[in-house]
Amino acid sequence: MPESADGPQQDEYAQEQPECNIGTLGHVDNGKSTLVQALTGVWTSRHSEELRRGITIRIGYADATFYKCAKCRPPECYSNNKKCPTHDSETKRLRTVSFVDCPGHHSLMVTMLSGAALMDGAMFVLASNVECPQAQDREHLLAAEIAELKNIVVVQNKIDIVDRSRALENLKEIKQFVKGTIAGKAPIIPVSAQHKLNIDVLIEALEKQIPTPKRNVAATPKMFVLRSFDVNKPGTEPKDLVGGIIGGSIVEGVFRIGDEIEIKPGMRVEAGGKVRYEPVTTSIQSLYTGGGTVKEAKCGGLIGIGTMLDPSLTKADGLVGNIVGKVGTLPESQDKLTLDVQLFEKAVGTESMVAVDKIRTNEALVLNVATAVTSGTVTSARESVIDVAIRKPVSTEPGSKVAISRRIGESWRLIGVGKIK
Ligand code: GDP
Ligand code: MG
Repeated sequence: MPESADGPQQDEYAQEQPECNIGTLGHVDNGKSTLVQALTGVWTSRHSEELRRGITIRIGYADATFYKCAKCRPPECYSNNKKCPTHDSETKRLRTVSFVDCPGHHSLMVTMLSGAALMDGAMFVLASNVECPQAQDREHLLAAEIAELKNIVVVQNKIDIVDRSRALENLKEIKQFVKGTIAGKAPIIPVSAQHKLNIDVLIEALEKQIPTPKRNVAATPKMFVLRSFDVNKPGTEPKDLVGGIIGGSIVEGVFRIGDEIEIKPGMRVEAGGKVRYEPVTTSIQSLYTGGGTVKEAKCGGLIGIGTMLDPSLTKADGLVGNIVGKVGTLPESQDKLTLDVQLFEKAVGTESMVAVDKIRTNEALVLNVATAVTSGTVTSARESVIDVAIRKPVSTEPGSKVAISRRIGESWRLIGVGKIK
């Protein structure tokens, strides 16, 4: 992707478009970002700001290519090195993966529960020097179960600062924590992210436990927009202007240079005191992946699409939350949603573990639908079904998942999940 303040960094570890997205779960400070850095060389928090309003999906992608040395034995043969340091010979490329690191707890929960399907599997990072589980470990495990995130590798981190008996005690805590859950059969790999210890064993586990899902390349392509920007420097001559860039994650199919695309719900139009959204159509001028410029892009990692759009439309994340598809293939935008609701017992991230009461008619809610965030008012609340009139429309299909937040004190807190009827 071209240079920009919030655009992804070119990554020396990755040569190709990643084919699989691996999320990082676990309590704050367990070492998620440090581990992603150990695997990829990229500090993800750098290009993803902490959540400010608490509801926007903010994630950092960092890509790594894994290799295998034909002469070393497992697990030493697994690395992120093109060259084997022991044998000074070329290694075999296995695959490129993208790590999805959410900077904030709320952002991670929303990413998992909003139906954005940005993770094919996850590393559940736990710290051996603290008791397991911590509050957010519990919430992430619950979210992983709701999101049906089956392919999990549990990482027992910070093994460098505990002694053997604490390490074994912590292992017991971890086994007890995941017992009978979606992570119950996941391997548990002790590592030190900071000292890059046992990273080969971890790569082997990721290769075995989180295979690249079978993708239907013939499916109608669809991308969720996570970022959008204007890469033109101020004062650029009109003839030298480059069209708007949209960044996101492809969830199905393949996009190619030249494709005619539509973006929904599209552009905000204000006329006669009324606001509406109009779908935008354009064509793909260029495509960028973690590995560089490509002719076609598929599922995996963060994709940049160069368009013919007026850059003022895409600047400053103006198109975040939209979906992109071939012209005529996207669902209609809706401004009313009917949801089947499943509420949590306690609101996520509240210090005092606020109990979640039923949703009431006329209540204000914030909904995350894939990468879109919209606020709305409940027009009708029945037993487990609610109707919500939303301010900003979303283009979505029945069955899609929605993360539901309610105002508690000063913040919007995640209180449950919904399914669009
Ligand atoms: P995150 O909140 O889960 O992303 O955690 P970070 O990656 O930001 O790490 C939190 C703190 O733990 C930082 O000060 C790291 O330097 C430290 N840390 C991370 N991994 C290790 C490790 O393996 N060993 C030790 N001793 N410290 C670590
Ligand atoms: Mg972090």
